Amino acid sequence: MESWTINKLLVWIHQYLKDKGIESPRLHAELLLSNILGLKRIELYTQHDKQVSKQDLDKLHVLVKRAGLHEPIAYLVGKTEFYSLEIEVSKDCLIPRPETELLVQRAIEFLRMRDGIQSVCDLCTGSGCIAVAIAKNFPQANLIATDISDQALLIAARNTEKFNLQNRIKLLSGDLFDPVIPQLDTGKFDLIVSNPPYVSNIEYEKLDKNVKDHEPQIALLAGHDGLDIYKRIIEKVDTFLKPNAALILEIGYAQGKTVYELLDKTNVFSEIRIDRDSQNNDRIVTAIKQHSL
Ligand code: GLN
Repeated sequence: MESWTINKLLVWIHQYLKDKGIESPRLHAELLLSNILGLKRIELYTQHDKQVSKQDLDKLHVLVKRAGLHEPIAYLVGKTEFYSLEIEVSKDCLIPRPETELLVQRAIEFLRMRDGIQSVCDLCTGSGCIAVAIAKNFPQANLIATDISDQALLIAARNTEKFNLQNRIKLLSGDLFDPVIPQLDTGKFDLIVSNPPYVSNIEYEKLDKNVKDHEPQIALLAGHDGLDIYKRIIEKVDTFLKPNAALILEIGYAQGKTVYELLDKTNVFSEIRIDRDSQNNDRIVTAIKQHSL
């Protein structure tokens, strides 16, 4: 029987994925192989002559085939890195994006300017990546995280437990603020964050295959202009914000002006700022509620 070493497999998988038009085929090959073998990526090179067992080859075969069909690597290995944390993911939640790290950064900067225990709400939490990253990096925060998808909340629960944050992150099932209302102990928040679905119908059709065919539509699509969820959040947000509190939202690259106007129109906020991501696209909106309201 033909024997497969780590090195031979790397070469073969790399070529297979390249032929299928997969981006970063070498990195994909390394991640799949290291995941199956339980090795660090660097160990693939220090142990390149090692024979791979038939059992591992079978498992690898299945994953490589799925990767060739443009299934995202994060789903294949069940995890991804976000804000230097290893976050579990499944096809029931959106894969955390690097752009969303900027939202977390802004959230933490805002919280650091304030005194005392901070009450934070994360709407459309998905994998729970935002809530977990805030809680891990800002020990003075207690969070409520909501999602309409119970399947996504199961993943959020795994991540919350993984980082031992069950006592500080309360996961609630329901649409946006709906499950927050009966939580009488919650009152108002110092900070509300959200990376809601924001893709328009037309953009959705044009999304990359790996996103469109594999990531949950419910986490992406938000009506004909992609603004449905922002409108519904902004309509109710005032009730849930303390004076001087912040609302921090991730937005689509072309939504800055409209979301700014939606926020401005409420007369709730004294300051609205839009930050650009590393691609120089509008990405994170921070709105600070007026002192006197
Ligand atoms: N940034 C994501 C994408 O382009 C969309 C995320 C979202 O809708 N919240 O696929």
